[in-house]
Amino acid sequence: MDLQAIRDNVADLRARVGDAEVMAVVKADAYGHGLVPSARAAVQGGASWLGVAFLEEAIALRAAGLGHRVLAWLYSPTEDLAPAVAADVDLGVYNQAELARVVAAAEQTGRTARVHLKADTGLSRGGSPVAEWPDLVEAAAKAQAGGAVDVAGVWSHLASSEEGPGHALNQQQKAAFAEALDVARELRPEVRHLANSAALLTDPDTHYDLVRAGASVYGLVPAPAFGDFGLRPAMTLVAEVVLTKRVPAGSGVSYRHRYTTSDETTLALVPLGYGDGVPRNAGNAVPLRIKGKRYIVAGVVAMDQLVLDVGDDDVQPGDEVVLFGAGGPTALEWAEAIGTIDYEIVTRVGSRVPRTYVGEQ
Ligand SMILES: *Cc1c(COP(=O)(O)O)cnc(C)c1O
Repeated sequence: MDLQAIRDNVADLRARVGDAEVMAVVKADAYGHGLVPSARAAVQGGASWLGVAFLEEAIALRAAGLGHRVLAWLYSPTEDLAPAVAADVDLGVYNQAELARVVAAAEQTGRTARVHLKADTGLSRGGSPVAEWPDLVEAAAKAQAGGAVDVAGVWSHLASSEEGPGHALNQQQKAAFAEALDVARELRPEVRHLANSAALLTDPDTHYDLVRAGASVYGLVPAPAFGDFGLRPAMTLVAEVVLTKRVPAGSGVSYRHRYTTSDETTLALVPLGYGDGVPRNAGNAVPLRIKGKRYIVAGVVAMDQLVLDVGDDDVQPGDEVVLFGAGGPTALEWAEAIGTIDYEIVTRVGSRVPRTYVGEQ
């Protein structure tokens, strides 16, 4: 993991959004990059907010000494919210039941809880439907007047931001967000926020006061049709060849012989598999790099290992294998080869794979 890439990417994003602040989204172990080191690098690069899905993630940031604003937006109906309020974590709120639970947690802790009311402007995931929005705003206004909560944010999330500002759904959602803000104007939220990475890169109209940047922080490619914006991948997944052997033409390779050697050749064994997050269907599809040359995975990926057909090339046990990352192949190339997005490729890398960091400060 290249922490300097995270710092530089965040600094670049900050420069793109003018006066808006940057929230570095570090959910899911910072998209597989490691929660605390990634969060530290992001704040060093200029992020003033951190974003997570779950309360545990927010508490872990606090435990590591990160005192920045943290927003958590997903918790269960039975979870105790008091520890998060006590830890000064901002909470996403989607409906009146959640608001009531935050108010109760505020009373229990004797603190004012900061909430971010989320409007569902078309994703149909979290957030208040348009029909319930005025009542949620009114309930929040009451709670704010009573001192239990401070409505710090009003926000929403886009469904097709990677399509760019011209796409009809983005135009609809932007208009719906503007209406939701208008309904909530008396709450005087400190920050209005809509943009994820793709929106912040492609559409300045979405920047408002704060942008929620995840993929772009890690140098992924959130809107491939618009290019990579010069961001640098922070994660490089590497392994070592553990074994090589010569086999004859016509040798079936890996489970169910989905690959057969066409000539006498050298096979190289790489000790990473789907137990480490290399998708099983990466077999016969994705490239890896050894000494500057690329080889497609031969046959299916097993739980712990995969095989490369390196022909007559000089590949030896101990040689470094780059699965994806800086210098390529990119996580995006992997994603496109197997029909997913690069977010999933990096986030899947399993806990069995040791994380090492360069560029620490
Ligand atoms: C994950 C997430 C983000 C970050 O999205 P990227 O596309 O990775 O920038 C922003 N907002 C919400 C609500 C999210 O769940």
